[in-house]
Amino acid sequence: MKAKVSFQQALQLLKKGEVVALPTETVYGLAGRIDCEKALKKIFQLKKRPLFDPLIVHCHSKKQALSYLFQKHSLIEKLFDDFTPGPLTLVAKKNNKISSLITSRKATVALRIPKHPLIRKVLRQLSVPLAMPSANSYGKVSPVSSQHVLSSFKSKVPVLEGGICQKGLESTIIKIHFSKKQISILRPGMITKEMLENFLKKQDTNFKVKYKTDRFQPGGSSSHYKPDVPFYIVESQKTEKEIEQFLSKKFPKKTLRTLSLSSSSQRTARLLYSQLRQLSQDKKNLIYTQKKSHHRSGLWTAIWNRLEKASSGYFKF
Ligand code: AMP
Ligand code: MG
Repeated sequence: MKAKVSFQQALQLLKKGEVVALPTETVYGLAGRIDCEKALKKIFQLKKRPLFDPLIVHCHSKKQALSYLFQKHSLIEKLFDDFTPGPLTLVAKKNNKISSLITSRKATVALRIPKHPLIRKVLRQLSVPLAMPSANSYGKVSPVSSQHVLSSFKSKVPVLEGGICQKGLESTIIKIHFSKKQISILRPGMITKEMLENFLKKQDTNFKVKYKTDRFQPGGSSSHYKPDVPFYIVESQKTEKEIEQFLSKKFPKKTLRTLSLSSSSQRTARLLYSQLRQLSQDKKNLIYTQKKSHHRSGLWTAIWNRLEKASSGYFKF
């Protein structure tokens, strides 16, 4: 099997219950149909992902997504209307059409409607949703190009080429607590807290949005998105030269490399994983980046959530 496959080949393989890597607007995913236990097990096995870490179900339409929920709710429908197709994942109580293998035996399911035209075409023609985590080994940096997928899985996984992912960070995951009148952000992402608050202002509700990035929930682990070399965050007002002097005293055998962040958060998000992968190619490298005071809201929250999980340590001086 050639690693790169055409659209038709990808579709036929998925129909037969094989696992295929597909592009989305966030990152590349390892896809398998949700009604095929063999494909679901293979996803966990290929990624070395523990079975307690549930998978996101990717659907073509709101109608399809809602058909897996225990109950319909107008707020869920409106969230789908406003933010999807796009990088938002909604966690809600599931019905019995969803296998407990996907949800790690939880009573809830995570649903997303992706936007990338190729995955939309696959989902439309397949007419079954796809379970799909990022196409990388568990705990490592997510892939934003077909080359990244190939570097992790070689020819073990067929890949559908879809270019560089335009968003570059995983979806925002939210859960609605109806009794508490609260939307919890379980994983920050491209759909920011501020965007959700603006959405709520338009609705006739007094729901609040809160971060609930619990590191003890599956996938919330404090160590994730790890590059192959040490990566440190430095929070300091000192100059780059002074920071480098400090780090080279601490790590004399390492070659220091800066992860430079653009002033645009969208651009930083799009380039982040490619840069981390590129800077970790030489095993002598040590990557560092400087946390600035304006890096605290909007999309920066998601960027720093990933950087903090990717890091080996934090220096503040
Ligand atoms: P990913 O690693 O991008 O595939 O995202 C999967 C993450 O979504 C998991 O690690 C969980 O944090 C979250 N998730 C998926 N399903 C559920 C669920 N049923 N309940 C709560 N969180 C979920
Ligand atoms: Mg992942």
